[in-house]
Amino acid sequence: TEANIGNVVEKTTSRLWNAMHRFNPDAEQVVASSGEGSWFTDESGNRFLDGVSGLWCLNLGHGQQEIIDAAAEQMKKLSYSPLTMNHEPAVKLAGKISELLGANYQTFFSNSGSEANETAFKIVRQYHNQTGNPGKFKFISRYRAYHGSTLGALSATAQANRRVKYDPGVPGFLHVYPPYSYRSIFGGEPEESDLKAAQLLEEMINWEGEETVAAFIMEPFISGGGVIIPSPKYIQRVEEICKKYNVLLIMDEVVSGYGRTGEMFGFKHAEGVQPDIVTMAKGLTSGYLPLGATAVKSEIYEAFKEAGKDNHFRHVSTYGGHPAACAVALKNIEIIERENIVDRVRELGKSKLGKLHQLIDHENVGEVRQVGFLLGLEMVTTKQSKVPLDDAKMAEIIGACKKKGLIIGKNGDTVPGQNNVIIVAPPLTSTEDDLDFLVETVDSVIRSL
Ligand code: PMP
Repeated sequence: TEANIGNVVEKTTSRLWNAMHRFNPDAEQVVASSGEGSWFTDESGNRFLDGVSGLWCLNLGHGQQEIIDAAAEQMKKLSYSPLTMNHEPAVKLAGKISELLGANYQTFFSNSGSEANETAFKIVRQYHNQTGNPGKFKFISRYRAYHGSTLGALSATAQANRRVKYDPGVPGFLHVYPPYSYRSIFGGEPEESDLKAAQLLEEMINWEGEETVAAFIMEPFISGGGVIIPSPKYIQRVEEICKKYNVLLIMDEVVSGYGRTGEMFGFKHAEGVQPDIVTMAKGLTSGYLPLGATAVKSEIYEAFKEAGKDNHFRHVSTYGGHPAACAVALKNIEIIERENIVDRVRELGKSKLGKLHQLIDHENVGEVRQVGFLLGLEMVTTKQSKVPLDDAKMAEIIGACKKKGLIIGKNGDTVPGQNNVIIVAPPLTSTEDDLDFLVETVDSVIRSL
């Protein structure tokens, strides 16, 4: 009976350790049972529009039959390769990724964004070791960045709140001031203050000693740290600085990759930029199966394959580049290209989601930041004071949207009491009606504050 099914779910969740429960601590947990397009249904039959694409990963929404078939067909054909990543879908996918990135890259596959970044860190250290710079071991990332939950990736993550109970992190990870013009100590126009933030990176490399700095890791747009969108000139300047000091540039495209920002990759917003390493996950498979990827410029890869030398990369992942996950990624990319999803995001990002910019006239909305289908509303008590809106009020907004059938998120999550950015990042295939519903709901909830 239905009552029995409800009981089973209740018992199951009571044994489940879900770290995201903190977003809704007092029971009433939503247990998802089915999904259709951008919507999902809980076990009691309530429908919700998923305004954050799961964890910004469900880019093509639920029920893409071609993706489901691609996974099933691949599992029937070859469920696992005895040679780990040496199988047809991985070879094809690595080729496709290189083509999309616009230069020659070799790709190493893993299972998640955290692993993709861990893999990048190990490649970087070994690369410098094997190219005559063994002293280059330090990684620099920005405050507010999120790069993953495993210890290395968490060490690059620079949000006190997420780290405090697990510190000290891995030695050799340093953090620099972010291009956060809304609250920048530099003041002035956003581009000017962003370029000053870039200058701090150069200062840091000099002060640390360039012979010790291995790589700089950045998202083109800080997502989990509160949707922070620098001017493209910042990204270009950072690349110049990295080149000058032989510091490798790792671009974390875990959230921004595969169309979310209205370009296939976020770094493409900054003309001419070509990162040394690009890490990806999430949108690579639209969340249908787990897959992480670390794409490395072929010049860097050369240092790992000189014949007769023990210089290969000692890094094995049993499930990394699983055949079914790679087949899913290939189909996912095929759909993104065939359906012109990137153009769609650019256009509907402006004409539909962009309507949320009108909320800037509200006293509690400090700034509206948006690139494509990635949008953040920085909530404050007053425009003048810029004091972050408190957690209780933020929870009220999220809860009111949920009551109306819309799931949105909040982030910023740097220090206690600064979780004041509302996150909107719906599936890239959301219908125009879905987007209208999302905008109207967020607008009416905030205006009723
Ligand atoms: N990098 C970024 C920018 C992310 O947002 C995330 C996850 N939210 C990760 C890395 C880690 O990805 P995963 O959760 O798949 O390990």
